[in-house]
Order: sequence, then C-alpha cells, then structure tokens
Amino acid sequence: MTVHFPFQNSYSALPDSFFARVAPTPVAAPRLIKLNRPLAVQLGLDPDLLETPEGAEILAGKTVPDGADPIAMAYAGHQFGQFVPQLGDGRAILLGEVIDRDGVRRDIQLKGSGPTPFSRRGDGRAALGPVLREYIVSEAMYALGIPTTRSLAAVVTGEHVIRETALPGAVLTRVASSHIRVGTFQFFAVRRDTDAIRRLADHVIARHYPELSGTERPYHALLAGVVARQAELVARWLLVGFIHGVMNTDNSSISGETIDYGPCAFMDAYNPAQVFSSIDEMGRYAYANQPRIALWNLTRLAECLLPLFGEEQDKAVEQAQEILGAFPETFSKAYQAGLRKKVGLFTERDGDEALIQDLLDAMAKNQADFTLTFRRLGDAAGDPAADDARAEFMDPAAFDEWARRWRERLAAEPQSAAERQTAMNAVNPIFIPRNHRVEAVIQAAVNNDDYAPFEELVKVLARPYEDQPDYAAYADPPLPDQRVLQTFCGT
Ligand code: AMP
Ligand code: MG
Repeated sequence: MTVHFPFQNSYSALPDSFFARVAPTPVAAPRLIKLNRPLAVQLGLDPDLLETPEGAEILAGKTVPDGADPIAMAYAGHQFGQFVPQLGDGRAILLGEVIDRDGVRRDIQLKGSGPTPFSRRGDGRAALGPVLREYIVSEAMYALGIPTTRSLAAVVTGEHVIRETALPGAVLTRVASSHIRVGTFQFFAVRRDTDAIRRLADHVIARHYPELSGTERPYHALLAGVVARQAELVARWLLVGFIHGVMNTDNSSISGETIDYGPCAFMDAYNPAQVFSSIDEMGRYAYANQPRIALWNLTRLAECLLPLFGEEQDKAVEQAQEILGAFPETFSKAYQAGLRKKVGLFTERDGDEALIQDLLDAMAKNQADFTLTFRRLGDAAGDPAADDARAEFMDPAAFDEWARRWRERLAAEPQSAAERQTAMNAVNPIFIPRNHRVEAVIQAAVNNDDYAPFEELVKVLARPYEDQPDYAAYADPPLPDQRVLQTFCGT
C-alpha cells in the first residue's frame, strides 16, 4: 500500500505570480519522530501508512506524494516595522490542500524542506529544536481552544544544519486552514497589481469567509471579518499569557489562526511588559502591545485593499478607517468577557472591569504566576478555605484584600460554589507549555536523541484544563535556576 493524500489543490491554480513551483530537496536519512495520529485521521490520511518508511520519506520531502502540487508561496511583509517587498516561503513548501472530515480545506506544508526561490541567504532548512517547539506549542494552543495552525508530523532528516553550531535538521509538517497572510496582500500591493489583489481577495472570501460572497461590498466585509477574527485571536492570547514574539505582517494570518511559532512563549509571572524574543530589543511585540500591533498589521492590510473599495480614494480611506475603528471594541469585548469568566463571573456589572484590573495590577506587583493564580482562584471559588491563590503573591495580604471584594461580588450571583469552580476550570488551564519544560524537552532530543520527555509533555498539554495528578509537576513554574529569560527564532 502506498500513502494516499486526497489532494484538492486550489492555490496552485491561481496565477503564476502567486508562487514558485519547487519540489522539496531530498534528505539523507529521514526518521519519523512524531506523527499526530488523530490529526492524520481528521485529514483523511492513513496514520499507519504514514508511520512506514515511505510515510517518513514523504514527511521529510524525500518523496513527493501523488496529487501534490508543490509550491513556495510569495509574500512580502513588515518585519519589526520595516517593509520587505519580497519574503515568501524560504524554507517551506506547500504540498497541497485536502478537505478534512469537517469539510474544511486545509493546507499541508513542509517546513524545513529545502531552499526555494524565496530563500534569500537562508539554507531552507529547520533545526530540530524549533521544530519541536512549534509542534509542542501549536498543539498546546489547539488543546486550549485557540485558533492555530497544527502540527501533523516531525521528522529528523539525518543531516545537520549549521546555525551557531551544527544541529540536527528536521522537517515539520504544518497544517493550516491556509497560509495566506497580510503579507501576501502586501506582495501584490507594492507591485500595484490590483487584479492580483482582487483575485487573492476572492480566493480568501471563498475559502475563509464564504458567507460574504455575493454581499454588496464583499471587500469591505472581508476587511471587517479579518479585523474581527484578529481582535478575538489576540484577546485569546492575552487570556492565556501567550506572547507570539514576531507579529510581523507576514506572520499574521488572514484566516485568524495563530501562525509561525518562533520565539513565542507563555509567561510565568504576570508582567504586561514581558518580552522573551532575543531579537525584539525594543519590546515592540511585548505581551500587552499585541492588540496594538495586531491593529497596526490590519491597517497595512486595509491599505492593500483600498483599490478594491472604489474609485474615490478619499472615500475608500474613510471607509477603511471606520472598519479598523471596530478593532478596539471587538478586542475589548472579547478580552473583558474572557477575564470575567476567568474570575468566575457569570454576569456583567458596573465595577467588574475595575475589580479585575485591580487583580491584574496586584499580580504584576507581586510577580504572581499568571496561570496558577487563575487556576487557584477557581479552587478558592469552589472552597472558601482553599487559599493556594494567595501563595502566588509575594505579599499574600494584597490578595486577601482583593479576595474580600471578589467574594462580595460573587455573592451577588446565584451559582453554587461547585458550579463556579467547574466553569472557571474550563477557562483557566492548569497546564501550559512552560518555557523551561519546552527547553528541557529540546535538550533531551537534541543532545541525547531522547524523545520520551517530548512525548510526555505533548500528552499532558493535550488536556490543559484537566487536573492530571500524575503529572502535577508540569503545572509548576520554573525554579529560579530553570527560568528561561530569552527565546530564539532559531532560523
Ligand atoms: P520567519 O521569521 O520564520 O517568519 O521567517 C521570515 C522569512 O525568512 C520568511 O520569508 C522565511 O521563509 C525566511 N526564512 C526563515 N528561515 C529561513 C531559512 N532557514 N532559509 C530560508 N529562508 C528562511
Ligand atoms: Mg514567517
């Protein structure tokens, strides 16, 4: 039996200017280290066959499966605010698209599969560490219920890639509802190719916003749709303490999925100014800046769409501004609603926002662990005698003072303690991919070819909202000497 991919490709049928046709570069000795079996099934693929040597060759880019139409997608982008007119898939190749079991079109892409015409000075390869990091964090985001690209597989190539040192090479198979980015629109906008922008917009509407096709002003509605999805996405990030790290416009997905896990990280202690990425020297992409940056990126998208808004550019600009103007409210609504749930409120009252902000302020001042404070708050809601939350605060009295007001507010609602705790546990994860855990997993794999820690971490993170007593240590923040201060994109 050979592995069958039920490809139904649409992007590669777009005009030639949208991509470069390029096959993956074969590698020496592919070895499958992880297959996401449930995702394979979801995509209509046979997991058993993917686990054969032939499957590993496909997932490493050594063999191109029947029906694939391998391309590197063209895109541009603002990187840290600087516009680069041509980026493109420099180390990723889209094999093709399949329709999954829910009828959703999904890209299957190999990341680290060799050079393409967009590689510039890069080698087109990926190192094992960043591949494992993307696998772990993207699947953790999925389990948390946050829109994201997924990871189907990781293979080692049997070759080394040269970064600061020689590292094992690897390929990640990434699955996305599409890889179309704000930067994809920018690629055509800077070339003043309005036909291509329209073509791309129509493709995006059909694929991601089908409800908009045939409406009166579909391109305006498209912008509004992307604005809404990005606003909600960034709210979700903030609610779990996630910092993307490189919110460049080329890493900003039109479908509203989290994409491109580089130097991303979850914060341990709550700090709105937190930055982990080694290359983010100015803190442009700090935790609390993310909503502002998302809006900045969306403004770049709006500029690309202006030619589709009508002949009169003044009017088009005004309309775009109005659409972008919805971002703060959409974000704030999603964020505040999420926060209310995190502290166990079922209803909305005057004063809630201030109450919650006071908690966040106290957490920041007292270096409280973001994840554990909310999880332990759920325990405290379930049992007034449970006082683990206060231990998260350097000065526990700061929590006590706040908790008195919180309990008063809770008393205004009829829900039982148990009901409230269940609701809180469903939104406050106990397990997140803590940086020190991710780091330890990567070290074991890279230095000792040991994937047991990787397997265990992935397993625990697949059920982030459930107490898993056997794995309780995975909930712990790092000890002082385990603390990860910086993360690297590793490209
Ligand atoms: P990223 O920081 O991963 O979003 O990548 C930014 C740009 O650099 C994209 O155009 C990538 O395709 C390209 N790139 C990153 N790493 C490599 C590499 N090793 N070889 C070639 N191109 C790369
Ligand atoms: Mg990128």
